[in-house]
Amino acid sequence: STQIQLVSRPAGWPVPQDFRTVTVDLPALAPGQVRVRNDFISVDPYMRGRMNDVESYTPPFALGETMTGGAVGRVVASTSDQFGEGDLVVHALGWRDLAQGPAESFSPVQEVPGAPESLYLGLLGMTGRTAYVGLTAVAGLRPGDTVLVSGAAGAVGSAAGQFARLLGASKVVGSAGSARKVELLTGRYGLDAAFNYKDAPVREQLPAVIPEGVDVYYDNVGGDHLEAAIDVMNRDGRAALCGSISGYNAEHPAPGPDNLHMLTTKGLTLKGFTVGFYQDRFPEFQQKAREWFTAGRLVYDETVVDGLDRAVEGFLDMMGGGNIGKALVKI
Ligand code: NDP
Repeated sequence: STQIQLVSRPAGWPVPQDFRTVTVDLPALAPGQVRVRNDFISVDPYMRGRMNDVESYTPPFALGETMTGGAVGRVVASTSDQFGEGDLVVHALGWRDLAQGPAESFSPVQEVPGAPESLYLGLLGMTGRTAYVGLTAVAGLRPGDTVLVSGAAGAVGSAAGQFARLLGASKVVGSAGSARKVELLTGRYGLDAAFNYKDAPVREQLPAVIPEGVDVYYDNVGGDHLEAAIDVMNRDGRAALCGSISGYNAEHPAPGPDNLHMLTTKGLTLKGFTVGFYQDRFPEFQQKAREWFTAGRLVYDETVVDGLDRAVEGFLDMMGGGNIGKALVKI
């Protein structure tokens, strides 16, 4: 099995030298185990946090061990009665071409007709679940609400923008970091308005694109975006704090929002979450996402790099904004 390992902890932006590729001989399957050939592995922003030696909601990656993370593939050998050859599974064993272990480490995928395998890592998988629970369980989206999504052309953001519309938002606005992404947001993804946060400070651009004010803010970015959103949030507004990628590669903490007093005067709710807190909502998500996908009401984009040897490149490209929709590595 070919695998990618973290060998040093990056300061600021990771570099290829922080990783190495190793080849490992896999032992014969013990009873109750499966071997899976990965078709896609996921590259995700949270992985940057795990490269630091700091306990977060997931423990840090161990140096000299294979990078873990979401992956999808098919069973090629099994000594477990839970799985047979050819079954499609998702798992968290990450950056390797072959994954092997106890059957409990793998989850069966209920395939949706017409959906490619990669979608079980994206729109119909963890990223879709994150978008859905953030809007519903965390922010309490109600029909008629106006919604702002930051990082709206990324994996979670492109799902959140579409779900918000399907859940009855009266207006959905998104931000992204290039003219091409902004065009996709109002075209392909059906958002009502969008802006490029690199054109001018978010605080200057936001009032014009959402003069009605924001009832629900889905925050993937933090920093300047969160500060600007608080300015334009309506009375009783709710923000789901999903991520803060603007700070993930920073060597020093950035100064905080300067307008937190408005939480009081506007009665705002800003609630952080990780998708795992809301497992009770997953069946509801699965049902809704399948229904919307099958009815042709969802679109998705993927940015795929080819080959496990390009996993680090794919990760760094995603962190820098090179992706539209879900960033994946095809094995
Ligand atoms: P994306 O597909 O959105 O990829 C990351 C994107 O972030 C890039 O494409 C880039 O787009 C944008 N970005 C990078 N730097 C900045 C910056 N300084 N300011 C604004 N945007 C920036 O990744 P995901 O959809 O997988 O993740 C999105 C967010 O959701 C992350 O913050 C992640 O940590 C979080 N998350 C949280 C989970 C939870 O359980 N709470 C679960 C999954 C994800 P652009 O070109 O627009 O700059």
